[in-house]
Amino acid sequence: MKNMSGTQASLKKYFDSRAFREEFHCDAPLGAFREEGRTVFRLWAPTASAVVLRLFAEGDGGGPLERLPLSRGKRGLWSREVPRDLDGVYYDYLVTVDGETRPTADPYARACGLEGARSMVIDLRRTDPDDWTDDRAPLPPPETVIYELHVKDFSWDTASGVRPEWRGKFKALTQEGTTLNGDGLHPTGLDYLKALGITHVQLMPVFDYGSVAEGGGPGEYNWGYDPVNYNVPEGSYATDPRDGVVRVQELKEAVQALHRAGLRVIMDVVYNHTYHLDSWLWRTVPWYYVRQRGDGSPSDGSGCGCDLATERSMCGKYILDSVLYWAEEYHMDGFRFDLMGLLDVPLMNRIRRELDKRYGPGEKIVLGEPWSAAGTAARPGTHLANKGNLRRLDGGVAAFCDDTRDAVKGSLFRAEDAGFVNGGGLDAEKLARCVTGWAGEGLPNRAPSQTVNYLSCHDDWTLWDKLSAVGPGWSEDDLLRQNRLAAAILFSCQGSLFFLAGEEFARTKNGVKNTYRSSPELNRLDWERAWANEELADYYRGLIALRKQLPGLRDKSPNAGARLLDADQFTERCAGVLLDNAGDSPWRRLCLIFNGGENTVDAELPEGVWDVLADGDSSWRWQAPYQLRSSAMLGPASALILGQR
Ligand code: CA
Repeated sequence: MKNMSGTQASLKKYFDSRAFREEFHCDAPLGAFREEGRTVFRLWAPTASAVVLRLFAEGDGGGPLERLPLSRGKRGLWSREVPRDLDGVYYDYLVTVDGETRPTADPYARACGLEGARSMVIDLRRTDPDDWTDDRAPLPPPETVIYELHVKDFSWDTASGVRPEWRGKFKALTQEGTTLNGDGLHPTGLDYLKALGITHVQLMPVFDYGSVAEGGGPGEYNWGYDPVNYNVPEGSYATDPRDGVVRVQELKEAVQALHRAGLRVIMDVVYNHTYHLDSWLWRTVPWYYVRQRGDGSPSDGSGCGCDLATERSMCGKYILDSVLYWAEEYHMDGFRFDLMGLLDVPLMNRIRRELDKRYGPGEKIVLGEPWSAAGTAARPGTHLANKGNLRRLDGGVAAFCDDTRDAVKGSLFRAEDAGFVNGGGLDAEKLARCVTGWAGEGLPNRAPSQTVNYLSCHDDWTLWDKLSAVGPGWSEDDLLRQNRLAAAILFSCQGSLFFLAGEEFARTKNGVKNTYRSSPELNRLDWERAWANEELADYYRGLIALRKQLPGLRDKSPNAGARLLDADQFTERCAGVLLDNAGDSPWRRLCLIFNGGENTVDAELPEGVWDVLADGDSSWRWQAPYQLRSSAMLGPASALILGQR
């Protein structure tokens, strides 16, 4: 055993060294594993001088039933076998490093008690809902249309018609047949999602996070980007957060219900930082999992003061193990990596590869934010999975595209900044880049398979609030037109599609930009508003249905850009593109024209007869197209999606 004392800065060198990796990298399964008659505990703690297991009857409160020392084995692995099945027993560890003893939950815990400070030994089979072994994701959809949803937002509104005791909980995702105030006419909740045509629901953090007191009142709120237990569901979304089994079972029930509704489920994962520097990972192996600056202080590229050192082998293993666990145990269909720009490229590629190996190529989706909040102190030579390195990433690792986002609606840093749809000009060349997913020579993406197009997500203003901020003088009708145009452009871009829940019904947070800890009243999906703006939602529905039929836009191959045949500038604020739509479709070419101006534009059309598939008023024209030839009139802030047979 080497001398582990020393300054924080020397620990950085030590943990980054090849010697450390070679001596201590450990591939043993970690955590607590029970079976008939025995339970094995394994903890990786190479710098510890002692580890003691404590067993408890309760998830919180009360003293330990037993204290059992673990013994040190090779490669920093501590373990202990107890000759009993400890299913349902809670536990933690006392880990002594450099003479200091700290209590810690198991970083590999798969269940826990209230607030997550005690882990729980669990027989996962008793958390399986009925028919769980038959649970399958729906067949791969023709297009990826992701709907970003916060568990509490979904059903907090009393108008949702969701059972009172399930509002704000995982359980609300399982309730069928809900209608607006129970009127029996206007679907809400799960039935509403089903009718929208989206293919994936992306759940904002559902792992155990720390910013909401699980024993607190129902009105506590946070988005949840503050991980405590990476491999356990959040307790405040369970009907009983005290019983470690319930949260596990209820999240599985939600996934199962979404699958039955024809939807796949993406999980938002936050492996770039922990809630506090003082995490279970930190208490187990102080400083190992955290990037440090030269002076030994923790790196802060996440804005949270504790960037995880993903390039260190046991940290990378921890993240990979966690992803594979959620995929296998909870049947998650994809992962959205928060601040992916803080994770390293080899790890992201490895995650992609391992998921493909187990489930088939592309069956599980991987996407992420290709940026960070600030610079990070990764080991020199580390390639980070940021926008500049998308070309080093597997084509099956996709990234949010801020270029299209900002082009369409304007910058998210300045409220008054306009985009294509509201006065910023609509440049044909830029439009062409948006349409081809910013893929190709000299552009960030290798192919549209790497592009996630979006106009709004949980961060920053909702689309409606941004449009309202740009043009305070505009009427509601003007804003609705701009919103329809923005949606038409979004659904005309190659790559995957993504939108914040409620964007389709002009969701507002009253102009508040960052609502991560605002009230649930402000954050909730307002189901009255959803039906008041039914026409806008219907426009989205039509676009989604149309998009699934257009191979020219669905193409995510590296050659997809070659489908762009022409781009035309009609006026400063009106432009269009011509696309090859060869494939399984009645239309062999598409002509997409967008007018972001306040005047009507008479646009010249390419030769031949054109079916109108969508216009500024309806996205359902494709069901019974009318025809245009030689020219088309576009009203203010409107789109034309045309197909030629
Ligand atoms: Ca929690």
